[in-house]
Amino acid sequence: MQTLRGTKDILPEEIYHWQDIYYTVNKLLNIYNYHEIKTPILENTDLFLRSIGTETDIINKEMYTFEDQGQRSITLRPEGTASIARAYISNKMYEKSKINRLWYFGPMFRYERPQKGRQRQFNQLGIECLGTSSPIADIEVIKIANKVLETFGLKSYVIEINSIGNLEERTQYKDKLLNYLNQYKQDLDPDSQKRLISNPLRILDSKNLKTQNILINAPKIISCLNSESLKHFNTICEHLTYLNISYKINHRLVRGLDYYNYTAFEVKTNELGNQNTICGGGRYDKLIEQLGGPITPSVGWAIGIERLLLLATNNKIKKLSIYIIIQGTEKRQQIWDIIQIIEECKITFSLNITGNNLAKQLKQAHHSPAQICFIIGEEEIKNNYITIKWLKNSEQQKVKLSYLKAYLNTHKYLFTN
Ligand code: ATP
Ligand code: MG
Repeated sequence: MQTLRGTKDILPEEIYHWQDIYYTVNKLLNIYNYHEIKTPILENTDLFLRSIGTETDIINKEMYTFEDQGQRSITLRPEGTASIARAYISNKMYEKSKINRLWYFGPMFRYERPQKGRQRQFNQLGIECLGTSSPIADIEVIKIANKVLETFGLKSYVIEINSIGNLEERTQYKDKLLNYLNQYKQDLDPDSQKRLISNPLRILDSKNLKTQNILINAPKIISCLNSESLKHFNTICEHLTYLNISYKINHRLVRGLDYYNYTAFEVKTNELGNQNTICGGGRYDKLIEQLGGPITPSVGWAIGIERLLLLATNNKIKKLSIYIIIQGTEKRQQIWDIIQIIEECKITFSLNITGNNLAKQLKQAHHSPAQICFIIGEEEIKNNYITIKWLKNSEQQKVKLSYLKAYLNTHKYLFTN
């Protein structure tokens, strides 16, 4: 039996990193007053069709869509923002507060060719700041993305940023771009050729090298931006400079989803081969309206957790502190009193339950990551003490049970992390 292609089990040695990420981002986002939200993994297919945009890779070829027993078209969510927008509307979240700062963490599904850093079931951490068109919100979310990546020890990454303007500006730009690209029609990859008619801006996102080469001299969207769009974009750039967050303006950056306007950004690294984007985000001022909600200009991003883990340099290793060896099982109820004391001191322990002899259990203790070993044998039980062996240097001490708690509390710093 195998997992489905593009999906994988996360085993205990890896899950500690996941727990660490969840715990750390929870603490961090709490500081910024972002609140966690969990939406269903299943949604009406229509939600994604209406938000992500036709002629995007996600809609054209990546969705896991099926019909349920009631003949409804259901889709496993390919991304988080559409669901958040839906939840915001269906729960009337705008009634309680004008601004909603939200974050989510969970699995997403896209039918793609699996490679390193690219799976069919993958996880995203995302934040969304709903309810304001202020560029300060854009800066806040970019600053948080940077903070998250920094916190996990990522070093060589660049934040690429662009403004894709408003609908009017994009319409104007579309014509300019088409004028240019039509000259090279025959040399574009087949997908891009189709998009000349259906969605020309998507061509800018093409990964095809020949198409990318043609795009080098294409007109830039910035040439179509009016003063308001430019002001928004420049404010963000100025603040990022003030914050010492390095960024690169990429005039060809458009995102893989159609609901964005104004700010679009991606965080890229050169360490992951083709899967070089670790975070993607932007402003989406019209999405919530488009789905039937009130006017709610918003901005957010999503980070791919599998890619984050491939790059994180400060992965913590879960440590074990105490290894407990018991000799025999008769009259050994006292071990529960000892465990009670360890629990109260909040120290991690592992009880050897193999029933092996002392020598073998000691060997196992030495192979474990534990720092100290408790030996509870016949002598110990009879005389109410335990033998503590420091596994690093094999030093041994006898400690009276009545003194054990005090001993652990005073020595804890030596054998826990
Ligand atoms: P790519 O260009 O790599 O396909 P994308 O533009 O489709 O990325 P987004 O929709 O912006 O990605 O999603 C945000 C982040 O989620 C990505 O930057 C990436 O880290 C992660 N991600 C997206 N698709 C996958 C996938 N199939 N497997 C693993 N991570 C993914
Ligand atoms: Mg993609």
